[in-house]
Formats: sequence, C-alpha cells, structure tokens
Amino acid sequence: GGAVDFDQVSHAYDPARPILQGVDLHIPAGHTLAIVGPSGAGKSTLARLLFRFYDVGGGAIRIDGQDIRGVTQDSLRQAIGVVPQDTVLFNDSIGYNIAYGKPGATEEQIWQALRMAQLEDFVRRLPKGLNTQVGERGLKLSGGEKQRIAIARVLLKNPPILILDEATSSLDTHAERLILDALNLISQKRTTLAIAHRLSTIVHAERILVLDQGRVVEQGSHEELLAAG
Ligand code: ADP
Ligand code: ADP
Repeated sequence: GGAVDFDQVSHAYDPARPILQGVDLHIPAGHTLAIVGPSGAGKSTLARLLFRFYDVGGGAIRIDGQDIRGVTQDSLRQAIGVVPQDTVLFNDSIGYNIAYGKPGATEEQIWQALRMAQLEDFVRRLPKGLNTQVGERGLKLSGGEKQRIAIARVLLKNPPILILDEATSSLDTHAERLILDALNLISQKRTTLAIAHRLSTIVHAERILVLDQGRVVEQGSHEELLAAG
C-alpha cells in the first residue's frame, strides 16, 4: 500500500494569497516522486498537507484511495515518516529520540536502525551509549548526525510512506555521502515524496514534478521531461 494522490489540491495561508493551485499528482505505491522548484514555490506546504499538518483548502488528497480527511492524524503519523530539513531533537537520550514514534522498540531494533543510518559506531564509542543525553543540555550533535538520528527513527518506525525534505545545509562531503546512502536505503520500496535540492535525489526518483508559484509546471519521468525540452 501507500499510493498517494493529490486531486486539484489548493491551499492558502491567507485567503487573498493562494499558495498551491490545482495541484494534481500521483505516486504509485513504492515509488519516488521528486518535487523541485524555486524557494517559495510551495514544496514544503505540499508535503505538509499529506500528513495533515495543515488541512487542504480545496480538492482532495488520498492514500490508497482513501480521503485523508477521513483518517485520524494519529494513523497518518503511523503511516508517514518524515525526515525534515532541520531535525529538532528532544532533550533526552539518543535511545529515546530514536524510539520516539515506536515506544515498544527493543534495544536490538534500535541498534539495527542505528547501523542502517550509519551511526552505530558513533554511538558505540560514547561512554553512555544509547543513554547519552542530547540537545541543549547534553551532547551537541552536528547537522549530519541529527539528520541520521531522524533517519534511524524512520527506519525503526518503518512507515509505508516517506517525506524527505533534503538538507541543503553546509554538510561536508563525507557527511553528505553518508546521508545520501542512508536516504537511498530508506526510500527503497517506500512511497516517497522527496523535496529535492540535490541532483542525486532526482536521479533516483521515477518521476519529477516541477512546482512554480504553487502550480505544477511540468511532471513526468526523466525521459518525458527531456523530450518536452
Ligand atoms: P518552498 O518549500 O517551495 O520553499 P513553502 O511551501 O515553504 O515553499 O512556502 C510557500 C509560500 O508560503 C511562501 O511564500 C511562504 O512564505 C509561505 N508560507 C509557508 N508557510 C507558511 C505559514 N505557516 N504561514 C504563512 N505563510 C507561509
Ligand atoms: P518546522 O518547520 O516547524 O520545524 P517540520 O517540518 O519539522 O516543521 O514539522 C512540523 C512538526 O510536525 C514537527 O514538530 C514535526 O516533528 C511534526 N511532524 C511532522 N511530520 C510528522 C509525522 N509524520 N509524525 C509525527 N510528527 C510529525
């Protein structure tokens, strides 16, 4: 499962200023759609409508054919994992931060998620391991480490749908490589809506949607977009 459909979706924060207008998109279950477009085009707004962070102003969003207005926010949060651009961690342990969203997780499962997110060695070297406090009053993590915590959290939760809001922040090349590998791993076989800043995401996406001023200006496979010039 996990097919996503937007049918003539519109949204405005201020009624006088529409942000999204008549957006149609379809992501077959297990596929990746990359959304590209200039800053302010409405990419994040579009992604947030999917988990009902905001309610749609017009049109409908469906997951596996079901209108999300008929789905509780709790079940949407179970079905959709988000790797945000800037991960805000709780002032709590690393283990808590990863198991958030899946309270019944075992330590073994947490370590497995850390391994896939390429954080296992880092956490094993910490004297307090999973119990290491992070955030304002604890260990300060780099942007890349925080993002990999968010990836481990999503891997543990294992949702059918994923929203990736790629970081454009100034990660060094090594950190970026680790994150790209981990992102490619978690988006495999999951329905993925990826806000793409890097070319590497577009390469892995089956379809690309170009958004400008809240409207879909182009949508298609790599070949279709190239043929359209
Ligand atoms: P993108 O992700 O493509 O940069 P956004 O969806 O973040 O675009 O923003 C689209 C427009 O909506 C921008 O003009 C932005 O200022 C505005 N906007 C975004 N979020 C809010 C909000 N919570 N309240 C009011 N305006 C917002
Ligand atoms: P902001 O720009 O305000 O940091 P985010 O894009 O990080 O907003 O997301 C908004 C809020 O919704 C955050 O607190 C985030 O943790 C929460 N959130 C987003 N998606 C989900 C989800 N699928 N499950 C649980 N919480 C989510």
